[in-house]
Amino acid sequence: MADSPARRLRELMLDLSALVWPTSCVACGAADRDCCRTCRERLSEPPEVMSRELDGVTCLARGSYEGPLRAVLVAFKHDGRVGFSAMLGAELRAPLLSAVRLATERTPRALLAPLIVTMPSRPAGVRRRGYRHLDVLVAAALRGRRAPALRARVLRTTRGRIGQVGLRAAERERNARRIAIKRSARRLVRGRDIVLVDDIITTGASMRAAREALEQAGAQVAVMVALCVAERQDASGVPAKSRVKS
Ligand SMILES: [Zn+2]
Repeated sequence: MADSPARRLRELMLDLSALVWPTSCVACGAADRDCCRTCRERLSEPPEVMSRELDGVTCLARGSYEGPLRAVLVAFKHDGRVGFSAMLGAELRAPLLSAVRLATERTPRALLAPLIVTMPSRPAGVRRRGYRHLDVLVAAALRGRRAPALRARVLRTTRGRIGQVGLRAAERERNARRIAIKRSARRLVRGRDIVLVDDIITTGASMRAAREALEQAGAQVAVMVALCVAERQDASGVPAKSRVKS
């Protein structure tokens, strides 16, 4: 398919910009683009949503934690590349909108709209990044879309929570439990169907802990959503993958 004039102009601007500020693709290292055209195309194909189950709750994700999706997420999350939010938001859009639809269909006559809840980041992580990366992704995913759901930050990490990466299973489980409902959000979550969102699901320990906290507060986790699923540490009873069209 031939490029549109707008796309050709955009490519020309990026070529000129690369002359002044040399850059390379975060996924493959090719010169002159933050994320090259080949990797962008790999990122947005196939247009599918991955469906799993975690303790009986449907969990929708965009794909596996690998390739360009992984590279772009790592750059966005750990390298301050906030410019990737639109690209990643576009990847989160299909699973998130499907999840909101599922949550709404589950209780069609519910008086309360479902609530989109993001997993909390540790305060140190937010300070380092300068943004709440999951809230930025959800906002980018929903930009210009009508999703019949509310959004609120209702979870917080509790004292002693550290990053999950590199922890042994028992320590990971203990660390994951350091999540609580904000006191000010208790009334909002009561009786509400929740769409719980994280960036990566590994063992599911954090999602499980958040679900428990939400359900103790009288909410019901209807669907879980993640940008990606890390396949290798799937020994947590998450069944073999199945794919559904978005
Ligand atoms: Zn590339």
